[in-house]
Amino acid sequence: MGKTDKSRALYARAQEVIPGGVNSPARAFGAVGMEPLFLERAEGARVTDADGNSYIDFIGSWGPMILGHARAEVLAAAGEAAAKGMSFGAATELEVQMAELVRALVPSMELTRMVNSGTEATMSALRAARGFTGRDKIIKFSGCYHGHVDALLVKAGSGLLAGASPDSAGVSASCAADTLIASYNDADSVRALLKEHPGEVAAVIVEPVAANMGVVPPEPGFLETLRALCDGDGALLIFDEVITGFRLAPGGAQERYGIRPDLSTFGKILGGGLPVGAYGGRKDVMEVVAPLGPVYQAGTLSGNPVSMAAGMKQLLLLKEDPGIYAHIEALGARLFGGLTQIARRAGAGCCVNAVGSIGSLFFTDGPVRDFASAMRSDTGRYARWFAHMLGAGILLAPAQFEAAFLSAAHTEADVDAVLAAAEDFFAGKE
Ligand SMILES: *Cc1c(COP(=O)(O)O)cnc(C)c1O
Repeated sequence: MGKTDKSRALYARAQEVIPGGVNSPARAFGAVGMEPLFLERAEGARVTDADGNSYIDFIGSWGPMILGHARAEVLAAAGEAAAKGMSFGAATELEVQMAELVRALVPSMELTRMVNSGTEATMSALRAARGFTGRDKIIKFSGCYHGHVDALLVKAGSGLLAGASPDSAGVSASCAADTLIASYNDADSVRALLKEHPGEVAAVIVEPVAANMGVVPPEPGFLETLRALCDGDGALLIFDEVITGFRLAPGGAQERYGIRPDLSTFGKILGGGLPVGAYGGRKDVMEVVAPLGPVYQAGTLSGNPVSMAAGMKQLLLLKEDPGIYAHIEALGARLFGGLTQIARRAGAGCCVNAVGSIGSLFFTDGPVRDFASAMRSDTGRYARWFAHMLGAGILLAPAQFEAAFLSAAHTEADVDAVLAAAEDFFAGKE
């Protein structure tokens, strides 16, 4: 690894004025026991830190940068929009175009409301579901992360898994009381909860491919059974596609697996790197949202023209060139397939889960199919893996329970660099 003097100095300064020195906990590198890198710029598949070290990047801003960093057309679209004014607080054609584009890509999105983050999207989707059904309870899955919504910070995944406690202080007992916890890939656990609370559950919210306890694909029949259980009970099915949306197919996981949820949430890719989220779905449900209906939800910067222009340009580039999906899927097969082989040759102790362009290497024999099996991972070994990769010029997620993200800007050579470094790691050079 190169020098890190500037990152270290920035971290020291940051800790004086920002809690933990970061604006989102995973950035602190605490789960891998290192000091964080401060990044300065990025282009394509590479990021450069404050000390001038360059890395092949597999964080991709945790998903948004599906076209790679600083894609010229996206930058130009944002710049052109910004030149016309950064924000109006009034309706614009860009918002109409965005909602039309989302519906064209994701047919279940009959009505779409733009917000500013994935967290806002899931929070608002739950409120709409409760308003529509007149029910209070929700079912979520342990290990699924849906942003830092109070009611959803119960058995959540992602950054929380890196800490000592899976739940958050500051969430009132009454807030968490309406959240029922099921087990991922275990439809029977949902069936049992619905039976225990007949007519009380407003919605089942799920990551159709879990990606915040590491990547955990849905087993055949799991999502189909959720759909059927919700239909039988009158609960709404919410797909949280903040990561999977526009990534696993143009129409997200719901297209890939052929399931139509009642509501969906999006973020990350949708904003092209700017802060954007969206929720929407069935027209009759979304008509409960103000100003049409009694469920209040608003946002000063929602549908911001610069964000809309950047996000829409990224979506249009994805829509117009299906070769991008073929490329990232092929790279995913090469990377995650390659890692699987290398790990297998090295003997027991790890397993790889992947869907298309996202995947995770777990330091456990596996299979990893839910939160409990993910938690068997050896996080100390992951920390050594992360440090080894960083030394080889490769920036992975700084925690075991996250995904690696591929982009259109990655090449076979980038993937092969990871595989070569993995060979070294498993050859005992940990
Ligand atoms: C990242 C994420 C969120 C939260 O989005 P933010 O923009 O970070 O608030 C919600 N759901 C899923 C599945 C996510 O991965």
